[in-house]
Amino acid sequence: MILAIETSCDDTCAAVVDDDGTIRSNVISSQGIHDAYGGVVPELAARAHVERCDLVIEQALRDAGAALEDVDRIAVTQGPGLVGALLVGLQAAKALALARDVPLVPVDHLDGHVLAATLRPLAVEPPFVALVASGGHTFLSRVDGPDAIVRLGGTLDDAAGEAIDKGARLLGLPYPGGPALERLAAGGDPAAFAFPTGAKVRGLDCSFSGLKTALLYAVRDLGEEETARRRADLAASYQRAVVEALAVRVERALERTGLRRVAIGGGVAANGALRARLEALDADVAIPDRSLCTDNAAMIAAVARFRPALDPDAAIALEAYASGQRAA
Ligand code: ATP
Ligand code: FE
Repeated sequence: MILAIETSCDDTCAAVVDDDGTIRSNVISSQGIHDAYGGVVPELAARAHVERCDLVIEQALRDAGAALEDVDRIAVTQGPGLVGALLVGLQAAKALALARDVPLVPVDHLDGHVLAATLRPLAVEPPFVALVASGGHTFLSRVDGPDAIVRLGGTLDDAAGEAIDKGARLLGLPYPGGPALERLAAGGDPAAFAFPTGAKVRGLDCSFSGLKTALLYAVRDLGEEETARRRADLAASYQRAVVEALAVRVERALERTGLRRVAIGGGVAANGALRARLEALDADVAIPDRSLCTDNAAMIAAVARFRPALDPDAAIALEAYASGQRAA
């Protein structure tokens, strides 16, 4: 079995997953200390990971009914993310791997979001189109195998989650905005305001910066009182624009690739409206449990099943990366 550790942002995560993709445990400790700042404070995130990393790993083993001796491989997120935060998980993984003489497998966080739906019980089999919509990234990939993931298109500016968080903030909602915006939107009319869906962007790319600006102008034009009265309508219409922008790209990706299977991942994939919209597509759509969409370590184990382990020297030398480049 695989023990996976994920500390790329503000959730301290550990999971135990069998080689066949069965999740034995998936522990997520959300820090909840950044809300007052309206965003993640890197230094605070790293310190909180230090405080709880060991406890979360112990909990994951306990929940799995496993001991460290049962673990065959240790998987860890190498990047992208906050380097200080990543280093905490990386050091914990290195220490465990070396002390216990267990192979270490570095994993790219975004591959985790792409392959989350390959875990059981969904166990999606390639080839499929993957939509990842998270806080820092939004893209579509064609997955022909766990090692054959090809980017088809992505956002030209903000990530979908970033747009949602910024929109939520404009509506006076607390950070992180996604769940709060979804709750507010539930009581509103999605057709009340016609917000842009980046329709001018052709192909499989998308854009969310115009949407954010449109909400800003709408709020300004409505004025404080009217905005307060129509907050639910604004939230529902804003959410619908994000959902439509993503759903249209998924439809195009299916058309272009000729594939009939879709899997989704990333925090925005936890959104009920997006899940419902994609579920209604005339395709085989794999929608993982919400806990596998937002950051978690089970998805890191999902990738590690298909990646080579490092020898001990390479394991010691492993460095975190902030963004862009994958491990050399
Ligand atoms: P990345 O994966 O790009 O490095 P991240 O790890 O910070 O970024 P995730 O944890 O995958 O991102 O996703 C967080 C994002 O998902 C946030 O922008 C959050 O607002 C959004 N989100 C979470 N739940 C929901 C929801 N129910 N509806 C809409 N958005 C949501
Ligand atoms: Fe993420």
